[in-house]
Amino acid sequence: MKVTYICDCCGVTIDNLEDPRLNEEKLGINTLTPEEREDIIKYDDNNGLIIYSLCDQCGEEMGFDDSRLEYIKPPELH
Ligand SMILES: [Zn+2]
Repeated sequence: MKVTYICDCCGVTIDNLEDPRLNEEKLGINTLTPEEREDIIKYDDNNGLIIYSLCDQCGEEMGFDDSRLEYIKPPELH
């Protein structure tokens, strides 16, 4: 599964993931409502799944911090 994270605020590519282990649960998108999915998830033939999120800088500027997960972050693949 190929996933690209793009900052919804400044448009920068946050992360590119390509891993067969990835699934909706790992990405944290399985709990989204249909409306939220429509809002932040797109599908592109070249880039695979595109998830609109916030880069660290924009997240900081908007007052999010690590303790409040209010946007979808790329999963840690270890
Ligand atoms: Zn940004």
